[in-house]
Amino acid sequence: MTGTGTRAAELAANLATVRSRIEAACTAAGRDPAELTLIAVTKTYPAADVLELARLGVRDVGENRDQEASAKAAEVASAVAAHGLEPVRWHFVGRLQRNKCRSVVRYADLVHSVDSVRLAAALGAAAAGRDRPLGVLIQVSVDGDPARGGAPLSEVDRVADEIAAQPSLRLRGVMTVAPMPWRPGDAFARLAGVAEALRARYPGATVVSAGMSGDFAEAIAHGATHLRIGSALLGNRAPLR
Ligand SMILES: *Cc1c(COP(=O)(O)O)cnc(C)c1O
Repeated sequence: MTGTGTRAAELAANLATVRSRIEAACTAAGRDPAELTLIAVTKTYPAADVLELARLGVRDVGENRDQEASAKAAEVASAVAAHGLEPVRWHFVGRLQRNKCRSVVRYADLVHSVDSVRLAAALGAAAAGRDRPLGVLIQVSVDGDPARGGAPLSEVDRVADEIAAQPSLRLRGVMTVAPMPWRPGDAFARLAGVAEALRARYPGATVVSAGMSGDFAEAIAHGATHLRIGSALLGNRAPLR
């Protein structure tokens, strides 16, 4: 017994629930759901789940570790082609080490986690051989604590200028993970301020990546354009990774 049919039904039900919760949050915030991109964060889950989500119309997939992501992206790319499905876009949402840049630029469409001038420069160098520029978000640490990754607010302009100076990169916007003791709405309100200031300098930087399974309604209320949703779609991951 493979359980594949059961899994497909489970993913379809989860997706329907998440989509209706997104619609409700949009209604409450006076926003159009079409402004939002749902990214299914598939870390720890197999390529078969990505394929099933692609069948259900999910076009954007997120991963947080290069080793897992690069293998999964290759597997999904060939399966998608074999099944005549649209290719999916890969979002790299985890902490990025400079020695992984060369790998990530091969499959990623948008890297959400650039948080230093050094990383921006390394990613730019790695992306030089791509046939089109790599989209990049600045991960912002709204509380300035570097533990989770993210540039402190005082560094955002410098990181932005380095990304903009790299011909192989396109500065698309900002990302955050709400820090634990904060109310998510407070974190996302602060990110919205950072996003607005960045857009004043770089009008093309329109992406606001905010909101996970536990806080996406608050993110929608504060102007998120990209939601990164894992467990609400795929189920609870095994702890301790
Ligand atoms: C895992 C992860 C998510 C998704 O988290 P869920 O709580 O499972 O929705 C979003 N963003 C980042 C950076 C992640 O690592």
